[in-house]
Amino acid sequence: MSDPTNEPIRILVIEDEESIRIPLVDALEDEGFCVLSAADGPAGLEIGLREDPDLILLDLMLPGIDGFEVLRQLRKDRVTTPVVILSARGEEWDRVQGLELGADDYVVKPFSMREVLLRVRAQLARAGGSTPGLGEAPRTLRFGDVVVDLAGYTLTRAGATATLSRRELELLAFFVEHVGEVFRRDQLLDRVWGRDSASGPRTVDTHVLKLRKRIEADPERPKHLITVRNVGYKFIP
Ligand code: CA
Repeated sequence: MSDPTNEPIRILVIEDEESIRIPLVDALEDEGFCVLSAADGPAGLEIGLREDPDLILLDLMLPGIDGFEVLRQLRKDRVTTPVVILSARGEEWDRVQGLELGADDYVVKPFSMREVLLRVRAQLARAGGSTPGLGEAPRTLRFGDVVVDLAGYTLTRAGATATLSRRELELLAFFVEHVGEVFRRDQLLDRVWGRDSASGPRTVDTHVLKLRKRIEADPERPKHLITVRNVGYKFIP
C-alpha cells in the first residue's frame, strides 16, 4: 500500500463496458484518486499484480479471464488489496463464492457514483488508508445547526431528529462535498442516481424539496440548498 500521506491513493478499475468504466474513472479522479483502468481480465490482472493498487473495483463478466478468476489469481499471489465487485442486477453470481474468494464488498449495477465512493472510502478506511479531500471517512456531516449521521441515516436540526432515505443522504452528502458548485439536474442524476437510472429531473426536485424541509429553518426561503435559476442547485453551508 502506498504511503497515504505522500502519494495519492491508487485505484484500479477493471471493467469492459466503456459506459460504466469512463464515468467511474472520471468520478474517482474528481475525488482526487489516481486511477488505473483495464478493459479485460488479463490486462486487469497484470496491472493489479504489477502496480499493487490500494483498491480494485472489479467487474465479473470480463473478456479473457472473468472477474472471479482475476480475484482468485490475485489472492493466490497474496495480493491483499481490498476488492469491491461490480455486479450487474440480475446477474447470476454467488455472493458467497465472491466473498470466499476474498472480495471485500460489492455494488450492484446500476449504481450511483455516490454509492461507489461510499464503498471505496469504507474499504480504504478499513485498510488503514486515508481518503483524499475528506481525510478519514467521515461519520458525520455538520453545517449550520445541522448534524447528519452518515451511518445512522439520521439528521438532527433544532433538537429534532429525522431519518433520511438513502438517496436523500447521498444527495445531501454530494452537495456537502461540493460546496458552492452549481449542478444541473441531469448532472445530479448522473452523479447521485447513476447514469443508468430511469429517474428524471423531477426526482431531483422532489428530493431537494424533502431535504429543504429537513435542513432549512424556512424551506420557502432556503439558505443552504439554493436554486440557481435556469441552471440547477448549489449548496452553501
Ligand atoms: Ca462486463
